[in-house]
Amino acid sequence: MLSKIPPLLTVNNALMDEQLLFESALLLGMAVAPVIWWTGRKDAAPYGRHHTNSGAGSRAVKAENMIAWNLLTLPTRITWFLMECPCLFFMVPIFCMGRYANLKPPRILAALFLLHYVHRALVYPLRMRPSPKRNFPVIILISGVCFNIYNVYIQARSLSNFRSYPPTWLSSPQFVVGCMIFLFGMVTNVWADSILISLRKSSKGDAHSPASTSPTESSSKMYKIPMGGLFDLVTCPNYLGEIIEWLGWATATWSFAGLVFFVLTVCNLLPRALAHHQWYLINFPTIYPLKRKAIIPFIL
Ligand code: NDP
Repeated sequence: MLSKIPPLLTVNNALMDEQLLFESALLLGMAVAPVIWWTGRKDAAPYGRHHTNSGAGSRAVKAENMIAWNLLTLPTRITWFLMECPCLFFMVPIFCMGRYANLKPPRILAALFLLHYVHRALVYPLRMRPSPKRNFPVIILISGVCFNIYNVYIQARSLSNFRSYPPTWLSSPQFVVGCMIFLFGMVTNVWADSILISLRKSSKGDAHSPASTSPTESSSKMYKIPMGGLFDLVTCPNYLGEIIEWLGWATATWSFAGLVFFVLTVCNLLPRALAHHQWYLINFPTIYPLKRKAIIPFIL
């Protein structure tokens, strides 16, 4: 029976099927975004200062969940690498399967994506100074890997297969402005992360260490108040930079897939920035600059 179906028809059917899968994946991303936002507002994802054993005054985590979260952890650096590497390793093979993979505009856009993930998966884990007292929860690793596999699929297929870019795209306002926004966001993100890394390096406890009367003193000694540049305006310029980066990506790709990534990043990082901000206010009650906002200067 199957042998009677002309080969071209089966190929076309497969493409139609994948188009349906791709479009469903995009809609799924948009549908999940409010859930990510709501979950993040309810309880910050339990890694870093919001990890259950940090005891650091995040809006935390009920006692019965604490044991489960804490049981399964891995060393932080290796976890960051594992979490982010799907985007690094799968972009090229998935991209190359696309019908427009030979064209210059999608190739340059894919290179931008890879630039971010070479840094995030390889450079950042090597540079970071994770707390020696706690590892990274496997549950966050698993959700991060799932997200990154989903995301690299939609971005790569959009770039080289489902969205077509004419050669003139490279001089379009969307591409030029989008690339500038992307690079500005990346520089901001890397700069802010570098400041945080340098705080951990030199963290011995000084005027900006948490107040000694803080109930969370023992676990938050390794944090200091970052100062200077954008840190004078917002608590989380690294998250702000990341959001700007993916806004630039959505603009440069001018695609629904790019928009989905941007929206998901906002829904993930904005609530986390609010939780970080709250954490500083609790742990540095008298000295945290009150004029500083969480993530959007002068606004939020
Ligand atoms: P954080 O700002 O929470 O932490 C960054 C690093 O700096 C951690 O190692 C942290 O230690 C340390 N640190 C933070 N604040 C201080 C301080 N006051 N004093 C000393 N050390 C400090 O960022 P994340 O770990 O959540 O994220 C890291 C990077 O990954 C960021 O660039 C972020 O934009 C990106 N990211 C992107 C996401 C996306 O959806 N695209 C999602 C999540 C992250 P510790 O871990 O012990 O707190």
